[in-house]
Amino acid sequence: MARRILAHSTSLIQMGDSGSQESDLDEFSSYLALESWTVLSPSLQSASHFTRGSILTDIDDLSLDATSIPFVDTLISYGFVPDHEEALQFLRNTIADYIEDACAAPPPWSATRTQECEICEREVPLTYHHLIPRAVHAKVLKKRWHPEEMLNSVAWLCRPCHSMVHSVAKNEELAKEYHTVALLLKRDDIAKWKFYAAKQRFGVRRG
Ligand SMILES: [Zn+2]
Ligand SMILES: [Zn+2]
Repeated sequence: MARRILAHSTSLIQMGDSGSQESDLDEFSSYLALESWTVLSPSLQSASHFTRGSILTDIDDLSLDATSIPFVDTLISYGFVPDHEEALQFLRNTIADYIEDACAAPPPWSATRTQECEICEREVPLTYHHLIPRAVHAKVLKKRWHPEEMLNSVAWLCRPCHSMVHSVAKNEELAKEYHTVALLLKRDDIAKWKFYAAKQRFGVRRG
């Protein structure tokens, strides 16, 4: 939200003649960000990649009637914009940026990659296990076992642990009952396996 304001601010700093303006500017941009935040409806404030379908798509339809006069006056008096209309357009652009950021796709699962196998905790080559196996995604959504955003969660497992997980339960059961590593580890057989696997050197192919 503050990014657009800050972009403007940077040019103001360059025009200014004193470094002490910086903290004023921080305060100023916080004030503007806070004021613009209050204009947003609750659905916009909680916008995310998963709610993007239900929030308005045309930013031009957004009502800015709730924008406070002091906010608009501040923008004008600081020289951001020449008049009231431009101030609202500035706000609209800022909100459009915000919505784009808020609704961006979450980082891909590869970002969750761990160094160690999440079961045996050995530093060995890892594979990824879809905690909700892909083969049952359609069913999971239909039966509402999990929200859509859960579908892509993965655990990073070494090959032997990965095979073990698939040997103790079928896809549907994995999806329903064992959709986190913590849940998997609550099983006796997996817990015993973890204890055993942690001490093994199998499956280790370094370099
Ligand atoms: Zn492992
Ligand atoms: Zn798997």
